[in-house]
Amino acid sequence: AKRKGKNQLLHYHDLAGDLDYKNTLTLENDLKFALKNNELYLDYQPIYTSAKDQMTGVEALIRWDHPVKGRIPPNIFIPIAENGNFISDIGEWVLEESIKQTVQWRDSGLGQIGVAVNVSKMQMKNKDRFLEKLDMLLDKYEFPAEELQVEITESDIFFFDGEIVEFAEELRKKDVRVALDDFGVGTSTLFNLKNMPVNVVKIDRSFIQNVPSEEFDSKLLKGLYQVLDGIGMYVITEGVETSEQVAFIRANSTSKIQGFYFSRPLKPDQVALLLQQESAYQQAASDVRY
Ligand code: C2E
Ligand code: MG
Ligand code: MG
Ligand code: MG
Repeated sequence: AKRKGKNQLLHYHDLAGDLDYKNTLTLENDLKFALKNNELYLDYQPIYTSAKDQMTGVEALIRWDHPVKGRIPPNIFIPIAENGNFISDIGEWVLEESIKQTVQWRDSGLGQIGVAVNVSKMQMKNKDRFLEKLDMLLDKYEFPAEELQVEITESDIFFFDGEIVEFAEELRKKDVRVALDDFGVGTSTLFNLKNMPVNVVKIDRSFIQNVPSEEFDSKLLKGLYQVLDGIGMYVITEGVETSEQVAFIRANSTSKIQGFYFSRPLKPDQVALLLQQESAYQQAASDVRY
């Protein structure tokens, strides 16, 4: 299928107004077709140390450029795949593709970086299927489990749901990192962190959005960093868009940074280029002799 130009991209609100039942069914069939015909692809958004001296990993973000309707955001089509009962097929494709890509960077000498994948509610419910596939892939690609991060969206889960806790527990047993995504805006409470076997928290972007201009927001985020640090969580701040925000994060936390200010989601070769520049820079720095 031919990809549309950037100016023709369909915006979220255009599509949402259009989503009646019939359209949903059509989209569902189009999506199945896209999966079968390899029309889905992944962009990768770098996650950096706050000094931006190291790309510690990337998050794989699924993309679908519909041949007629243009780009359809994952927030729209993932729920369609969930309802249509084929989200696990998509999820397995995402898992393999992202591991394969990360291994490809590694094998071309760019180093072993981490990769994060999002999983949806249904995949957690079908945990045995996911975990079996995962074992197979880690083995097939000789991929270190601790470099894989599985992201669970906070609003997707009920902490009293034993299946989901078990899903996370089994991943942790394998040394896979488990991240709570969009943290702080869901329905859960801080205390639930006690029962959920996650070791990474991704702070939802609404927390950073008005920092540092809003005093309340700034104090809240600073406090949240202290809490998460105090309980030993590895923290990533999402949606970082300005240099002032970066300065605030550096001053108040050890959080890693993911956001448009450091990098938008990228194509694999763009990621490779950044990794290359990073290692060339580090080489040059270590070559300096006084
Ligand atoms: P997420 O996991 O929280 O991913 C981060 C989203 O924030 C991405 O949107 C990313 O493009 C966007 N983002 C990153 N930095 C910034 C920033 O500085 N400002 C703003 N305004 N946005 C930023 P995207 O790619 O549209 O994905 C939306 C959601 O769709 C994801 O949220 C995730 O929940 C879901 N998703 C994406 N790929 C997959 C997938 O392969 N499987 C599943 N199940 N869900 C996925
Ligand atoms: Mg995520
Ligand atoms: Mg998410
Ligand atoms: Mg998020």
